[in-house]
Amino acid sequence: MPIYEYWCVPCGRKATLYQPKYSSAPPPCPYCGGNQVRRMFSAFSMHKTHKDVYEDILSDRDLTRGMLGNDARALAEWNRRMSGGEKVAPEYEEIMERMERGELPAEQIEEKRRDLTGQGGETKRS
Ligand SMILES: [Zn+2]
Repeated sequence: MPIYEYWCVPCGRKATLYQPKYSSAPPPCPYCGGNQVRRMFSAFSMHKTHKDVYEDILSDRDLTRGMLGNDARALAEWNRRMSGGEKVAPEYEEIMERMERGELPAEQIEEKRRDLTGQGGETKRS
């Protein structure tokens, strides 16, 4: 069953959602309707430690606050914890590297998000 766990950035909730295909766009957050949900990497390959890791992250207020504030290091740290040390998807590697240096390649992330969600038409800012 293609069910994945997501973490909603704006409202900070976790949702388990159905996704028809691995590569298709993540569904909107069922709580706030936002489309800034992030799929939690390797949720099912981590077995019972996954829940512990997740709760550890959510109990880390600095980390969650940083994530909500789009803090690059917090986002990178979150991804690293959620992946359990596994490599991130290739298309995110460069983004992750930049985030770990404390940069927030917002345009790149936004571009990638559009690619992944198939959404466009938002006002382009340069
Ligand atoms: Zn939400």
